[in-house]
Amino acid sequence: MIAAETLATAGWAVTVYEHMPSVGRKLLLAGRSGLNLTHHEPLATLLQHYGDAAVVRDAVVAFDPAALRAWADGLGESTFVGSSGRVFPHSMRATPLLRAWLARLAGLGVRIEVRHRWLGWADTGACRFAQADGTVVDRAADATVFALGGASWPRVGSDGGWVQPFREAGVVVHDLRPANCGVHIAWSTTFRDRFPGTPLKNIALTALGTTVRGDAVVTSTGLESGPVYPVSAAVRDEVARHGACTIAVDLQPDLTEAAISQRLSHRRPKESLTTWLRRTLALPTVAEGLVREATGNRPPIAPAALAHLLKAVPLTVHAVAPIDRAISSAGGIALAEIDERFMLRRLPGTFVAGEMLDWEAPTGGYLLQATFATGVAAAQGAIALQRGAAAGK
Ligand SMILES: Cc1cc2nc3c(=O)[nH]c(=O)nc-3n(C[C@H](O)[C@H](O)[C@H](O)COP(=O)(O)OP(=O)(O)OC[C@H]3O[C@@H](n4cnc5c(N)ncnc54)[C@H](O)[C@@H]3O)c2cc1C
Repeated sequence: MIAAETLATAGWAVTVYEHMPSVGRKLLLAGRSGLNLTHHEPLATLLQHYGDAAVVRDAVVAFDPAALRAWADGLGESTFVGSSGRVFPHSMRATPLLRAWLARLAGLGVRIEVRHRWLGWADTGACRFAQADGTVVDRAADATVFALGGASWPRVGSDGGWVQPFREAGVVVHDLRPANCGVHIAWSTTFRDRFPGTPLKNIALTALGTTVRGDAVVTSTGLESGPVYPVSAAVRDEVARHGACTIAVDLQPDLTEAAISQRLSHRRPKESLTTWLRRTLALPTVAEGLVREATGNRPPIAPAALAHLLKAVPLTVHAVAPIDRAISSAGGIALAEIDERFMLRRLPGTFVAGEMLDWEAPTGGYLLQATFATGVAAAQGAIALQRGAAAGK
């Protein structure tokens, strides 16, 4: 849609094809928990979150957080910098932003054709769509920008159905994999039945040398949210390599092991583990449950040993959550397949943007920032291509 806006602003006649009954459903979903549009930090720091995806980083430099915030402001949705640099619209939601955006697109003459599912290319090179009643139609265009998303939360639209036609056209597409996702842990029946939905507040999670603080949530299959998402990509890759990955939960990140041991040193006669941990460390029942999980229900009773365990409760991850529950997707169209204008080298006139491309980034506003930036870049690529053609280049 930002590509449509960019092209229409440049005077192009634009039609957006969407297979769902309405556009922007994932944006609305993202807005349900507070629309984290982008991130406020030095640009060099922000760019590090896109790893070696140079073309994505270049697009973010060209359409940076300030540009994205100015764009939102222009739609009447001014933004603010929240905790840890995350940027949100004051309304926190996506609904008013999307409403104003659709009005702007309509004003620019952008046509939106919903219930049109892109199936692939016709022999003529035109895009082939299935309409809701099953009718197949072909639509030709001077240029096409694809932004069909990854494969997370398919019920809001992006289901990865585009992968096969792109591969058949000879485009290298890496398998779509979950990113910013939960991790699966084989809980005991007791733990699984007792604690799903329970937050593990103010923990520090360490995986493969990275430690992240925050609040995680216990699910019936493992852990999700907060500190789990930032480590999930590394855990996912480790599980793919070795079949499992050990993570460690620090249940008392503000206390040293010695301080914990000191507090635990006076256990009252007949005091249960639950009461002992609550009285001395204010630890909730779920923390005790985690300690029992990690030790086969035989937690150490010596203060020093228990303190050591509380600083790093080891848990074995045997899988990451499936892609349909992930916040975003890794994998997608190999970056080597596109040029600096986001045009497919094999299909001149065809541009790609957003999560379809093989880059990944953590939560924190980095996903939408790159999605918008690559959408702008792809549209500008189409404009540059046409100008070049008009100039006979
Ligand atoms: C729960 C949740 C919360 C999130 N919160 C945030 C956040 O706060 N901040 C942030 O930066 N990111 C967030 N994200 C991630 C962010 O929403 C995505 O990275 C972003 O929407 C990707 O944009 P996109 O345009 O590439 O794909 P999408 O937004 O998925 O859009 C792709 C569109 O293409 C359509 N489509 C797919 N296939 C076809 C087809 N064959 N034919 C026609 N149409 C098709 C889809 O229906 C969809 O409308 C969140 C994601 C989730 C799931």
